[in-house]
Amino acid sequence: MKTETKKWLDAGHILQNDPNAKVSCPECGVGILIVKDEPIGTSGKRIDRYLICNNCGKWNVITMELPEK
Ligand SMILES: [Zn+2]
Repeated sequence: MKTETKKWLDAGHILQNDPNAKVSCPECGVGILIVKDEPIGTSGKRIDRYLICNNCGKWNVITMELPEK
């Protein structure tokens, strides 16, 4: 597994639990990953969470279930 891939997985884990966490970009190491949620369907329970670097623009997405309120 590439180092960047591992870092994206770690970033995904952190931002899945805390979307306000400040996680540095796995690609450039300079920018901060910004979180953008896109609902999937109309149930409101599943989202695509985009992690976007504010410096180099690289991004990744994790599909996740929103925790019960
Ligand atoms: Zn970056």
